[in-house]
Amino acid sequence: MSNINIIIDYIQRSNDFIVTSHVNPDGDNIGSTLSMYYFLKNINKNVYYVLDDSIPLNLQFLVEDVNIIKSHEFKELNLQNYNLIALDCGDINRICLDNEIRDNCKKLICIDHHASNDFYGDFNYVVAEASSTSELVYNLLMRYNEISNSNIIDKKSATALYTGLMTDTGKFTYSNTNPSSFDMAKNLLTIGADTQIAVQHVFGSNSFNFYKLLGEALNTLEIINTKIATMSVTGDMMKRNNIDFKDIDAVTPYARDIENVEIGILLKEKEQNEIKVSLRSKAYADVSKIAKLFGGGGHIRAAGCTIYDSIENAKQKLIEEALKEI
Ligand code: AMP
Ligand code: MN
Ligand code: MN
Repeated sequence: MSNINIIIDYIQRSNDFIVTSHVNPDGDNIGSTLSMYYFLKNINKNVYYVLDDSIPLNLQFLVEDVNIIKSHEFKELNLQNYNLIALDCGDINRICLDNEIRDNCKKLICIDHHASNDFYGDFNYVVAEASSTSELVYNLLMRYNEISNSNIIDKKSATALYTGLMTDTGKFTYSNTNPSSFDMAKNLLTIGADTQIAVQHVFGSNSFNFYKLLGEALNTLEIINTKIATMSVTGDMMKRNNIDFKDIDAVTPYARDIENVEIGILLKEKEQNEIKVSLRSKAYADVSKIAKLFGGGGHIRAAGCTIYDSIENAKQKLIEEALKEI
């Protein structure tokens, strides 16, 4: 049996589930987890959605009527009966709930598309070439439809899946956009995914304060050897403009999207001496290699890591490594 069939079979034979995803939630994180949550509810399973990080403002439209709980709110005594489904988590340590839940649940099911994934689950459906984890959930749901002769993807689920696909492919522009991604988009549109609501919330609802912060961040741009661009968001900038760390992801593409630049580096000062780094490449550089050197990971064109140092020192270390990739 293929992994997808094994997982469907296991889900059908089980009752209790927890779905979760990675820290610092993004569109694919929420799109894939939410559609899995709806699926399990629709087939009458007992399911909790647990995530310890807060949802970014531009993605809250997806979860307005969903009860997402934190680890400490999960009070079921029989944790050992619960199967944990981790979606979009390339690394077991990025799963966004208490280690106690992670380590004591019945089985761990991992559905993911990070090349660095080491198959940490008891069941793994990991496809590095997939556009997004949402596309993998979509494949699983389509297979379920085939097996059970049903139409399990409803409008809400379609909107969630579309959001994950749209965000991880950079609105269908990145190199991970496969022919199958367009097939999926077409099907989701046919089902009734609210694509306009999704795009308006995700990309068309930045606050005025966000633009003020973006202006300050753009002022920090530096170009090195024409092919590397760095940009910084300091803790002070976030404070001054009243923006939360979780709501600054839209700053990321600007460094990469400069003429001749191959690698864009965004340094975000989450705390003093805790710099969350977002690395992006345009055409050929493998930024996941750079991220891995600093204990992080990700994809060839989009990767991240955390460096425990000042912004300036972190920047110099990253530039040194990025120069080897251009
Ligand atoms: P970001 O720059 O945070 O948007 O992340 C880009 C990609 O790299 C996403 O696929 C993340 O899941 C992945 N990523 C970010 N930070 C890390 C990390 N510390 N370890 C492993 N993967 C990461
Ligand atoms: Mn993600
Ligand atoms: Mn993803």
